[in-house]
Amino acid sequence: MDALVSLCKRRGFLFQSSEIYGGVQGFWDYGPLGVELKRNLKDAWWQDMISGHNELTAPAGAPSPFEMVGLDCTILMHPQVWKCSGHYDLFHDYMVDCRESKKRYRHDQVRGRYVEYQDQKVFVTTLAEIEHEVDEIRRRALKFFKLRAKNADDITIGDESITLDKLDSHDDVLGPDAKSVGTLTEPREFNLMFKTTLGALGGADDTTFLRPETAQGIFVNFKNVLDSSRVRVPFGIGQVGKSFRNEITPRNFTFRSREFEQMEIEFFCHPDQSQEWYRYWRDRRMAWYTEMGLSGESLIMREHEQSELAHYSVGTADIEYAFPFLPEGEYGELEGIAHRGDFDLRSHMEGKLDPATNPMTVQLGEDGKPKYRGSGKDLTYRDDITNEKYVPHVIEPSAGADRGALAFLCEAYTEDEAPDEKGKLQTRTVMKLHPRLAPIKAAVFPLVKKDGMPEIAQEIYAGLKQHFNVFYDAKGAVGRRYRRQDEAGTPYCITVDGDSLTDKTVTIRDRDSLEQTRIKIDDVVDEIRSRILQ
Ligand code: ATP
Repeated sequence: MDALVSLCKRRGFLFQSSEIYGGVQGFWDYGPLGVELKRNLKDAWWQDMISGHNELTAPAGAPSPFEMVGLDCTILMHPQVWKCSGHYDLFHDYMVDCRESKKRYRHDQVRGRYVEYQDQKVFVTTLAEIEHEVDEIRRRALKFFKLRAKNADDITIGDESITLDKLDSHDDVLGPDAKSVGTLTEPREFNLMFKTTLGALGGADDTTFLRPETAQGIFVNFKNVLDSSRVRVPFGIGQVGKSFRNEITPRNFTFRSREFEQMEIEFFCHPDQSQEWYRYWRDRRMAWYTEMGLSGESLIMREHEQSELAHYSVGTADIEYAFPFLPEGEYGELEGIAHRGDFDLRSHMEGKLDPATNPMTVQLGEDGKPKYRGSGKDLTYRDDITNEKYVPHVIEPSAGADRGALAFLCEAYTEDEAPDEKGKLQTRTVMKLHPRLAPIKAAVFPLVKKDGMPEIAQEIYAGLKQHFNVFYDAKGAVGRRYRRQDEAGTPYCITVDGDSLTDKTVTIRDRDSLEQTRIKIDDVVDEIRSRILQ
């Protein structure tokens, strides 16, 4: 992971936000290569889920043909949206405060191990990355027991890494930034929404929130989309956009950020067909990650247990990836696919429903009136063929663009061996990104900066540039130019050499197989296009 993090900074994939001022935790900027990667990921999702979808035929595994449309709604919405969605009441994590360091941590994210020395036993915590956990715990424990490094064998560090929420008490806990034990408070609820104020007056009614998910904007526009686009159930609305969560302990690079992008679909279907549609979307989304290059044992689908589900839902599955910063055998969520029943549409229509009631009824306040009033607008659907009127059920595949980009970066990072100019094998770092995701699709090099080669190379570059993001490089030894492109994940390098002047051909080198083939200059654009789409 350390090697990937440093490559991301060195080559301009990711930078810490406001770095020149010391950075701000949980915010990340995408550099020149990173912005292309993330944009390619979002474009691939949009193309494969929305704009490229053919509504005239049923894709493999789908119960019937269906329609897909897009939406782009605002980040700030009417405050009532978050009351009816449940985020105002329920969207919280548990946090603990440290009385000594005055820092705040998310209860389930602080890890530690029991450390014994003579007759004392202390639970030593750390926020260090998993590969540094034991070393960091040893360092902190030695300091706590006032021992030197040479006494490391006198302490016993437990084998099991445990998170704070699994402990019964914090009495023996050495907090992540504390010098003494027992400084952590009991866990308390903390709402994750960022608050802000609308307008200049700033009264209580003007308080609203930066959206913590894009989904609610889709639900509140359900009727607008129905009335304006002639879609019929079953259909889906997709949206890509920023979401904000005031995560208590943002960490693990971009995995848990405070500002991130989501790619969400709300798929509306007849209640009787919702199980089939749930299974379709779950499998389709899993297949998508595999097609884009995540596969093997690093990618799993975890179906939630029946006991974890709300009674109105028939299923939820998480697509998870074995990020290298997680302990062996642990996976982090890339996307959740949830069957949400009619909870959201009915809550925005009637008032926030109480998910614990069955059948669900509107949650009442102390005065016996709805605790959070809905819009009162009719969000039912009338089938114009059967005349049936119902509230559609919803399947929600909800993916994170930043977590996706991070997983593809982790999967792509490879160290292998490739021959240098003299044929000697050298270690190379190569980002084996899927050609659709690669920030630069091809690089064009003149072998040397003379004999008419730059002119031909520049002409090829200009031709390619009209279609793809390509890169021109005439500086330095050609081997070094290949290495730079390997690190950037560029799948193809096109080199103009002495033969190009006479036979109008160039070599095209494949990043992964290192195979070099000669193709006609006239065929370069078509060749790159077919290789990217293969
Ligand atoms: P987690 O349990 O990891 O906090 P979640 O279950 O709360 O995630 P959802 O509310 O289901 O996440 O959001 C859908 C997707 O949005 C997640 O699968 C993830 O890819 C992305 N996401 C959620 N929170 C964050 C975050 N803080 N930083 C980056 N991506 C996030």
